[in-house]
Amino acid sequence: MKLNNIRLRNFRNYENMSVDFDPGVNLIVGRNAQGKTNLLEAVSYLGSGRSFRAQKTSELVRFGCDFADLEGDILSQEREQNLRWVLFSNARPRQIYRNGAKKKTTGEIAGVLQTVLFCPEDLMVLKSGASPRRRLCDQALSQMRPNYEAALNEYNRILEQKNRILKDRYENPALLEILPEYNTRLCQVGALLISYRARFFAGLGREAAEFHHHFSGGVEEFSLQYRTVSTVTDPFAPVATLEGQLQEHLQSHYRAELESSSCLTGPHKDDFDVDLSGISLKAFGSQGQVRTAAISLKLAQRELMQKESGEYPVLLLDDVLSELDPGRQDFVLNQIREGQVVITCCEPGRFTKLGKTIEIGNGKLRNDQ
Ligand code: ATP
Ligand code: MG
Repeated sequence: MKLNNIRLRNFRNYENMSVDFDPGVNLIVGRNAQGKTNLLEAVSYLGSGRSFRAQKTSELVRFGCDFADLEGDILSQEREQNLRWVLFSNARPRQIYRNGAKKKTTGEIAGVLQTVLFCPEDLMVLKSGASPRRRLCDQALSQMRPNYEAALNEYNRILEQKNRILKDRYENPALLEILPEYNTRLCQVGALLISYRARFFAGLGREAAEFHHHFSGGVEEFSLQYRTVSTVTDPFAPVATLEGQLQEHLQSHYRAELESSSCLTGPHKDDFDVDLSGISLKAFGSQGQVRTAAISLKLAQRELMQKESGEYPVLLLDDVLSELDPGRQDFVLNQIREGQVVITCCEPGRFTKLGKTIEIGNGKLRNDQ
């Protein structure tokens, strides 16, 4: 898939701007705080309706404005398509349009524009806490499987309500009577999440192992293990089996959950580990190994999405190339010869021979298109 053009109105620091993209490599240059990451955020939001850094939709609307409008023309699924979002600074629900027709859910625009974001924090994803690793999985799977995104939203909603019950029950003990109902729903939807994740991580691990094998000159063997609730013996088991095993774990933590007033067990605690030739990267990996493995993971995600949909997602590299030594830069650039890439970079001289250069200054295009 290729993003041909994006038009932004009152999105972040862009008042009104239109930019044409090259089908290959696009280099966004500009000094700090000019809007480079904002542009990547717009591209990613256009396809997914998710921001990789905003907490609330209203943050995306230019300060002092009532709404933001973002629209893009995409070549995808062998035809020209158009996506458009209208976002409001108040609580009004956002609007989604696909090819001019209003849509109700993000599921209805799934697969039109998929993106993979890679930023400097991702380089440490295998050393950090578990939540960035879960985010990696959630961002990828939500784009690949609209039903996953729906289940994830549902799971988070039930989880939030259950947490509220656990906290409010001192004031209102009757709330405990409805707790089993929430637990049942949580296990039903949670089992679905585990089932999707098991398949995703198997594919991701397989692809990443291949990249890492080349990257390390055939020396290190990359292996990824999905970690979920301990009573789950096989995450590939039928959803009904998983549901029973989640129930089992919940029951054994019933007292502890009441005492701590929070949900202690479930796939919201999921994680994955990476070993290199049998040695845990998290515990023993060197900085270089951790970075190399993180690059393999990102390239793997792009490859997996391509294999599933038949088209490469748009790769968004936010300041990440300048963080890498020349050997790793070359590895990344050599692996992404196909597909569209948007790269942000502060130093104008660097990487300019790669493709189209787009210069941004204070939310505006600096060069004539
Ligand atoms: P760096 O090189 O430092 O990463 P950048 O070019 O990527 O910089 P961005 O993060 O894209 O910078 O843009 C930052 C600017 O956008 C900040 O100055 C910020 O104040 C501004 N900004 C963010 N959100 C909004 C908004 N809703 N309305 C107006 N301006 C905004
Ligand atoms: Mg930036």
